[in-house]
Amino acid sequence: MKKKLGIYIHIPFCRSRCPYCDFYSNAGCQKEEISRYAAAVAGQLRVWSRMCREHTVDTVYFGGGTPTLLSLRDFGLLFEALHGNYDIAPDAEVSCECNPATADAGYLRGLRTLGVNRLSIGAQSLDDGELLSLGRIHTVSDFFRTYHDARDAGFGNISADIMIGIPGQSTKSLLNTLKRLSDLEPEHVSAYCLKIEEGTPFGKTAGRPELPGEDEVAEMYLGTIEFLAGSGFYQYEISNFARPGYECRHNIKYWSCDEYLGFGASAHSCFGGERFACPASLERFCRGEYVDKASRIKLTDADLETEYVMLTMRRTTGLVAGEYARRFGSDPHKKYDARFREFMDLGLVIADDSGYRFTPRGMLVSNSVLSSVLDL
Ligand code: SF4
Repeated sequence: MKKKLGIYIHIPFCRSRCPYCDFYSNAGCQKEEISRYAAAVAGQLRVWSRMCREHTVDTVYFGGGTPTLLSLRDFGLLFEALHGNYDIAPDAEVSCECNPATADAGYLRGLRTLGVNRLSIGAQSLDDGELLSLGRIHTVSDFFRTYHDARDAGFGNISADIMIGIPGQSTKSLLNTLKRLSDLEPEHVSAYCLKIEEGTPFGKTAGRPELPGEDEVAEMYLGTIEFLAGSGFYQYEISNFARPGYECRHNIKYWSCDEYLGFGASAHSCFGGERFACPASLERFCRGEYVDKASRIKLTDADLETEYVMLTMRRTTGLVAGEYARRFGSDPHKKYDARFREFMDLGLVIADDSGYRFTPRGMLVSNSVLSSVLDL
């Protein structure tokens, strides 16, 4: 049987840069430059297909940046390169991120016709004041229009991203966003806590906005879990909630340490026991430099095990003892019972015969718990 593979395609263009964002992306590029980039990605797809003869691609994810800044013609080029060079499963999940105000009804119909079957819309908030404080280019009504256009275009699998801990946000306004969103009945919701990253305008002292306090953010996060559970979404990862059967299959690959290849500037790959990334530079990438040599890491058995614990613990199923034993040939309880003990006593982690998983409160501090457990 062929191995399964996920393909990620990075589109590093945005209308303007949001002040909190540290993803690799370029603002203000001309159409010609974007088309040249799409042609370069199609080239990489063709070249790398040689190492994927034994694989069936069951997920494709267009992320960014803002993928919906690509013209339909450019998207067509990428789909041609995909279908002409890879064994794409007939039921493959094909996701595309979409920023409101960058895609109209005709464009969304075009995407659907090309084969995109899952749309992830960056709503962030359904409060115009909060969108403004995030420096987003869209309004709440842009989001509603994009959402309805997507449904009219035939998208039966829509996700919306929202953010927790926005400057000026309160638990009440977040719950209002969640209520308005769930009334639309999307299939999936991602809810990320705003993190201030160094090197971004929000990360500089002068540009740092006043944020809700830690306790308030914790209350918002726990309130989000509770609200979405009561609205028919089940939580399957720290920040991700789905109606049954609509979990993002592509992202589940990341959290399961499965293989994926990343195409386009700055895209990361995990393939053949190695991690590597394309250079975060349009110029270098378009010259045909597909791997940033400094990023290449051959994963040792110890690396694989550490990553496995870190990533599977993000899922609500947590570290499954049987699966761990199958991969690493040992009983995780012997190694981890003592290490997780303190966090079990604090009510942050649940341990039983089936393995380990975080409680909702534990998810809030998962990074520091795992750093301690894994001696990072
Ligand atoms: S639109 Fe998305 S990728 Fe672009 S700058 Fe804003 S947050 Fe970053």
